[in-house]
Amino acid sequence: MLVMKFGGSSVANAERVRNVCAIVKNNLHRHPVMVVSAHGGVTDMLIDVAKRSVTGKLDISPIRKIHLDMIKDLKLDPAPTEKLLNELEVLLQGISLVRELTPRTLDYVMSFGERLSIRTVAAYMSSQGVHATAVESYDLGMITSSDFGSATPLPEADPIIEWNIKRYDTVPVITGFIGKDKKGNITTLGRNGSDYTAAIVGAAVGAEEIQIWSDVDGVMTADPTIIKEAMPIEKMSFDEASELAYYGGRLHPYTLIPAVRKSIPIRILNTFKPDNKGTLILSESKETEGVIKSIVYKENLFLINVISTRMLFHHGFMAKIFEIFNNYSIVIDMIATSEVSVSLTTDNDVNLDAAIKDLAQFAEVTVEPDKAIICVVGEGLKHSRSVTSTIFNAVEKGKINVQMISQSAKKINIAFLINDDDILTTVQLLHNTFFAKKQ
Ligand code: ASP
Ligand code: MG
Repeated sequence: MLVMKFGGSSVANAERVRNVCAIVKNNLHRHPVMVVSAHGGVTDMLIDVAKRSVTGKLDISPIRKIHLDMIKDLKLDPAPTEKLLNELEVLLQGISLVRELTPRTLDYVMSFGERLSIRTVAAYMSSQGVHATAVESYDLGMITSSDFGSATPLPEADPIIEWNIKRYDTVPVITGFIGKDKKGNITTLGRNGSDYTAAIVGAAVGAEEIQIWSDVDGVMTADPTIIKEAMPIEKMSFDEASELAYYGGRLHPYTLIPAVRKSIPIRILNTFKPDNKGTLILSESKETEGVIKSIVYKENLFLINVISTRMLFHHGFMAKIFEIFNNYSIVIDMIATSEVSVSLTTDNDVNLDAAIKDLAQFAEVTVEPDKAIICVVGEGLKHSRSVTSTIFNAVEKGKINVQMISQSAKKINIAFLINDDDILTTVQLLHNTFFAKKQ
């Protein structure tokens, strides 16, 4: 079986739905199972209309229009879509009456995006001679926790999903993003959760491959919006992909978990260039090539220096610092210690002032804004001793002020802190150094 997930942009309008159908048609011999997102932009519109309903302003006509225009363009029967849209309207009327939107109700509202899109996609495929069935993931066994807005699947979901999917002799077109808790409430897996659905389904059925189809060429060697020579990475390991996911890469780290568990390869593909190979993510690190895979960055960070000549290595000091950050729900990205200070970075400025005040009770604290972490990722870092010096020689050429350096025990990344203003120069220098030869 082949799990093929199509994101919102891949099913954003009638033309793209036709394109998706053609892609699936070419893969029928691999027994495709489709996981589909809401049409691009629809989830945002649903959130918006739900919030407006609380204030009594209810208007679902833009949402109706998107769906019904597409149905018309694809020459499909509008009845199933109209039925769901009416159900949505009744729900929103309820919200506007009680003037309250709970996380549970918001998940219910958001679920309409995927429930509408699977019907359109499945109906169009069937009209083109590819027999397909729209399936709500929860009817397949996607049982989740009751954490509305960020639910996680329960372990018992796997065998049920496997058993149910194998019963289809048509192509199942499954809702991404949503599930149901044990009480029967609709839940969502968190924004962009359809990738996660695809991985859960793929792991449950033991798929040969999980394909994530979107509008990018794959995982890139660098951010293509700033580095014009950036190119898709051919192969990478799950560990490398997890590191990159943290830096806003193509995949949410959760997506990888079910695939890693069953060692199922994930391939990132572009619906606009279906013949390209995209990026293949494998569990076997030795199968992947190249020392460095990607250079990523995270900007707009704060550097916090906590200085205490007396206290630093007294036991409990570190615990005290982290307790304060924990109290204010501040997530720390990078840490470095010296004999007299601890340096930390975070992107959270919401409670930072309050946390600093608490820290200042027992240490000297300084905060510097506008910092960025540059992270160089690659399994090859484990084996090649010269890479570290190559990295810093390259950075040296740009006279970049490097303020912190960190490498974790897994040794597949080196991260360092610079000023936001130096991001472009630094990433460009590193990209030229590691990827220029391949151009
Ligand atoms: N439609 C959902 C969202 O926009 C899930 C997804 O697209 O993966 O977040
Ligand atoms: Mg999306």
